[in-house]
Amino acid sequence: MTFAELGLHDAILQALTASGYTEPTPVQAQSIPAAMAGHDLLVTSQTGSGKTAAFMLPALHALANRPRPPKEARTPNQERQSARARNARPRFQAATPKMLVLTPTRELALQVTTAADKYAGPLRFLKAVAILGGMPYPKQMELLSRNPAILVATPGRLIDHMQSGKIDFSQLEILVLDEADRMLDMGFIDDIETIVAATPATRQTMLFSATLDGTVGQMARRVTRDPQTIEI
Ligand code: AMP
Repeated sequence: MTFAELGLHDAILQALTASGYTEPTPVQAQSIPAAMAGHDLLVTSQTGSGKTAAFMLPALHALANRPRPPKEARTPNQERQSARARNARPRFQAATPKMLVLTPTRELALQVTTAADKYAGPLRFLKAVAILGGMPYPKQMELLSRNPAILVATPGRLIDHMQSGKIDFSQLEILVLDEADRMLDMGFIDDIETIVAATPATRQTMLFSATLDGTVGQMARRVTRDPQTIEI
């Protein structure tokens, strides 16, 4: 099986070739078609299995294929009016991400962010930004003000920004819980529930975990709808 046979967007295929990937790993071969068909996923897989691309590639594919609003030709008068409107706008508008990835640690969030930008290749409008505990607020406000399509976050810091109105999840299409068992071990259950409750019920949810037993299994069933289970 090749990535091209999975039907991924050409720009993503180019990025994969540039990264030296020739064929999908087992978790990718099973997850990518199911996610591209629109299913929610519950996936048990380990670090190093290629799980980041297993959720990132179908998500980027879906977002890349969304119709984008046409650029209209503007008269000079319209340009002047819109420049005034820009100046009149409040200094900060809430970010409206299309995809959110929650991870247990800063290190994993940074890895996922780097991977997202690598796999998006030339699709620059699918920029990913990391929202992490310990990062200065002004820097994060600056990142959010660019309204990135993809946020990768640790739960605690994300809650701070949500509660101060910096992020609006009404446009969110895809939610990923990465290493969900570790997030629960670290005590993030309430934060996760708060974040999930702020996202649209119509979202696609993909949950990755080393195990789906006990508490994590219960949470997994609460946050997904009719999921496909993939065990690697
Ligand atoms: P992950 O499990 O997502 O942390 O990925 C583990 C490592 O495998 C990372 O360094 C990826 O860049 C690499 N990787 C992921 N998918 C593939 C693939 N299909 N072919 C070769 N390397 C891959």
